[in-house]
Amino acid sequence: MSAGQKIYEGKAKILYTTEDPNVLLTHFKDDATAFNAQKRGSIVGKGQMNCAISTHLFQLLEAEGIATHWLDSPSANEMRVRAVKILPLEVVVRNIAAGSLCQQTGLALGTILKQPLVEFYYKNDALGDPLLTHDRLFLLELATPVQVEQLQTAALRINQILSDFFERCGITLVDFKLEFGLDAQNHLLLADEISPDTCRLWNQADSDPTQRVMDKDRFRHDLGNVEAAYRQVLERVLAQSVQK
Ligand code: UDP
Repeated sequence: MSAGQKIYEGKAKILYTTEDPNVLLTHFKDDATAFNAQKRGSIVGKGQMNCAISTHLFQLLEAEGIATHWLDSPSANEMRVRAVKILPLEVVVRNIAAGSLCQQTGLALGTILKQPLVEFYYKNDALGDPLLTHDRLFLLELATPVQVEQLQTAALRINQILSDFFERCGITLVDFKLEFGLDAQNHLLLADEISPDTCRLWNQADSDPTQRVMDKDRFRHDLGNVEAAYRQVLERVLAQSVQK
């Protein structure tokens, strides 16, 4: 396949081929969707902001020894990544109850979890990305038991690194979603993005449950000032070195 061919367009990103079959170019879009794409819109400057935030966080994780797909970011809204086969799983880590955890368990919003919770969701839009049990995950052969163990360990380590980093930014990492892929050598790499689209981030300087939200929940629930919240996350993230 020649360079510059679109191979996939998702809700927030487009993937293009490059001259190297092991490398893909990710283009971050301003488009925003929520509730399984039932709500659609656009957040001005989101593509560039999410690309810059993700770039910084992937560099942080690489510096801490986490293998990611990130190679470099050649322009403001583009990232070159290792080509991987994405596992059809969304790995969600939660530190504080919010979103679907509250809806499905009755836990009050903001309940601090005694230990981080790692959950696996089936990445399948037609089915609405359902929560999986380990047995269902194995039944569908979405990952091997060894891979599930590796994903669980990586997710908890990433949570520790990101929680510490966001703490330095004055931000609480409530929960987030990760995606992983396998490279040509079958190595598990962290893929996709880490941004206010995929994390719940609460401003520690604000206790008001609406004001403190610095992530896509502002878009999901029409809280306003979405761009300003993303911009604030960007500024605070870039102000912190990826080295401790
Ligand atoms: N998330 C995501 N993509 C998804 C579903 C969830 O990035 O398709 C993120 C979401 O932003 C939050 C975390 O994963 O940081 C947990 O989301 P939850 O299960 O609470 O679902 P939601 O309330 O977003 O429907």
